[in-house]
Amino acid sequence: MENLRIPGPTPCPPPVLEAMARQMVNHRGPEFMQIVNDSTDKLKQLFQTRNDLFILTGSGTGGLEAAAVNVLSPGDKVLSVSIGVFGDRFAAIAQTFGAEVIPLKFEWGKAAEPDAVRQALKDNPDVKAVLITHNETSTGVTNDLGSLSAVVKEFGKLLLVDAISSLGSINLPVDEWQVDVAVTGSQKGWMVPPGLAMVSVSPQAWEAHEKAKMPRFYWDFTRAKNYLAKGQTPWTPAVSIFFALDIALDMMLKEGLEHIFARHARIAQAARDGIKSLGLSGFADEKYASNTVTSIAGSDGLDIAKMRKIMREEHQIVLGGGQQKLDGKVFRIGHLGLVTEEDIKAVIAALKIVLPQAGFGSGS
Ligand SMILES: *Cc1c(COP(=O)(O)O)cnc(C)c1O
Repeated sequence: MENLRIPGPTPCPPPVLEAMARQMVNHRGPEFMQIVNDSTDKLKQLFQTRNDLFILTGSGTGGLEAAAVNVLSPGDKVLSVSIGVFGDRFAAIAQTFGAEVIPLKFEWGKAAEPDAVRQALKDNPDVKAVLITHNETSTGVTNDLGSLSAVVKEFGKLLLVDAISSLGSINLPVDEWQVDVAVTGSQKGWMVPPGLAMVSVSPQAWEAHEKAKMPRFYWDFTRAKNYLAKGQTPWTPAVSIFFALDIALDMMLKEGLEHIFARHARIAQAARDGIKSLGLSGFADEKYASNTVTSIAGSDGLDIAKMRKIMREEHQIVLGGGQQKLDGKVFRIGHLGLVTEEDIKAVIAALKIVLPQAGFGSGS
């Protein structure tokens, strides 16, 4: 079997895959109503929230677009805190719909600094919302969202968070950290195929929603809320992925949030230790290294594309490459959702063989 070690899509447990083989049901009927209601309740537990929560059919990026268009108006000033590819994407979405984006960028591999966010909010008192990535999948960095949120809330601003690769894997108490809209996607830590975005919506976000003027139709939270009251979704949902999600959420609740977080922390540490034992170094600032994805800096003659090809063809291990300006410069090991220490040991053992075959150690 292939060891799929990219940060999404992640492998799915057999019962989750089997759930997808189920015959279709009426998405306006009682069986689906039960599933959507149960899954929403279970997700609220895993988001640690009492806010409204919607399961939208679309990928994570659709959830980010939903977050923007539901609470913002064209011309609104938005502070975009970006530490990588996905932070930039969130900003691009807001900008596309007419927000005036004030970029606050940090060097890739580093985490966002709360003091810099405070200064930016002092300098721009009319900012309406702050966009932050909790876990930047492209660089393997987890922001200190608790501290960043505290700063955003000193100023009473809306906080919209891309938690696509952290929620359900890394602690993110949505209510405690006052996240107004938190977004995640089914194919990351949830052990479910791609196709669903899950978003929570705070009372403050609802207030903003009342006045928000960005164009919205498919992603409209008011429509989602009205239909959820009937145990439905406004549009035909990805029914099979809902079947899968329902089962995966049961598995997650059975394992328990604390255990899930501890497992991710333990396995991430094993990945980082393993990398060091091979003479490689992490790309991310060690203090903020992610528990769901490890990014590794290429060095010493390593041809990353060649290494990934040999890993895939000869060891059935699929690793992530670098995105955008990190292409050819870093590679990534995904360790979120369905992952064990054995999976990571296998990666490190194979790398030990493959690294020299791909030029590592030839010193350039
Ligand atoms: C995967 C990911 C996305 C994009 O999600 P899609 O489901 O591919 O649209 C956005 N942000 C982060 C942090 C991600 O990890």
